[in-house]
Amino acid sequence: MTDETEADLTGGTPRRRPKPSADKVGDRKLKPSTMMMGHGYDPMLSEGSLKPPIFLTSTFVFPNAAAGKRHFEGVTGKRPGGADGLVYSRFNGPNQEILEDRLGIWEGAEDALAFSSGMSAIATLFLSMVKPGDTIVHSGPLYAATETLIARILGRFGVHWLDFPAGATREEIDAVLGKAASGNVALIYLESPANPTNALVDVEAVRASRDAIFTGANKPPIAIDNTFLGPLWAKPLEQGADIVVYSLTKYAGGHSDLVAGGVLGSKEHINTIRLMRNTIGTICDPNTAWMLLRSLETLELRMSRAGENAVKVCEFLRSHPKVEHVGYLGFLEEGSRQADIYQRHCTGAGSTFSLYLKGGEKEAFAFLDSLKIAKLAVSLGGTETLASHPAGMTHLSVPDARKQALGITDNLVRISIGVEDAEDLIADFEEALKAV
Ligand SMILES: *Cc1c(COP(=O)(O)O)cnc(C)c1O
Repeated sequence: MTDETEADLTGGTPRRRPKPSADKVGDRKLKPSTMMMGHGYDPMLSEGSLKPPIFLTSTFVFPNAAAGKRHFEGVTGKRPGGADGLVYSRFNGPNQEILEDRLGIWEGAEDALAFSSGMSAIATLFLSMVKPGDTIVHSGPLYAATETLIARILGRFGVHWLDFPAGATREEIDAVLGKAASGNVALIYLESPANPTNALVDVEAVRASRDAIFTGANKPPIAIDNTFLGPLWAKPLEQGADIVVYSLTKYAGGHSDLVAGGVLGSKEHINTIRLMRNTIGTICDPNTAWMLLRSLETLELRMSRAGENAVKVCEFLRSHPKVEHVGYLGFLEEGSRQADIYQRHCTGAGSTFSLYLKGGEKEAFAFLDSLKIAKLAVSLGGTETLASHPAGMTHLSVPDARKQALGITDNLVRISIGVEDAEDLIADFEEALKAV
């Protein structure tokens, strides 16, 4: 991407971005939580408006014909990096560009893209990388719609897949990648922690395995869905992932009031994905981008509080006589392989966990139907606490054998803790457990 200075020189439409961003005060490099308030936006380009206006337009006026031609060279990939200026709202827009600049900061990514949903981000990533005959190697389980996309939809176009379990060791990963390497592996796709098992993927091991088995142009990029712990508690680019994917609907959006997705990575990978987004139009709309800018200002506050609440709630639930087990990343067995991955990859246990009650569906439903503060809904990462029943809801159509293998039993309740008062939440769970 070029900055506004270059666009000025070439006569392009200036983007609503400031001159190279102030990411330092003196020698001090600013933290993401500070930069969320101003980075990528110059109020003086918008009549001094402290917050960016929402740019509701489908197209942008070129200052001259040469600038228009130059922009289209970027949009169509004749020149890498996308358009220098604003062109047409399927390609870019000021609100989306400010959002992308700020998203990238959280993980120190070179570049980022915003999408209309987590799934449209994932679909655009896949479409930009695979061709018939290629293989996607992935960790399992994945978010159900991602599994459907790989196996059933891309499968119809001759794309193959192979998987290894999320908690796999280096040897197990080597075995699967080694087998896949007889064909063309287009992408290694990870999700960590896996839903609903919470199993963490050893990204460092995947990276080492990839680098040992593949060389040169055959090296597939490693992409990872970081929706559950990112960007506060996990930054997988630091462990060797090349591309990070988000459902921004969850913690990043954080208020259960929007659907959006994001992809972060090197300029080279992002340019490839951007060309596909330009073609199929999976960019998010300006209003959603604006809402996400607001959300990012409180991301650290919200996630920190939710994480602190989850520790307290899980401590309470763990010792309750009607609870069989709490699958929470904060309770990993000391010295276990999962705890080792956690220590190398994560800075916090998140606020989404699995609660196994003693009993079955009857007990789980009695508990869910008695909650007063926690809402009975799927999704996660919002300000409010949510609870759901995977076996009867999100994973209803999963075959029984696979459900059993994934630990999706009838007594499992998935909980995403919000930013309410922790003692109020504990009181809610305590009362609901009395009804079991
Ligand atoms: C919700 C979710 C998605 C899909 O995101 P949408 O915004 O609903 O399209 C993908 N991956 C994970 C891990 C999710 O939780």
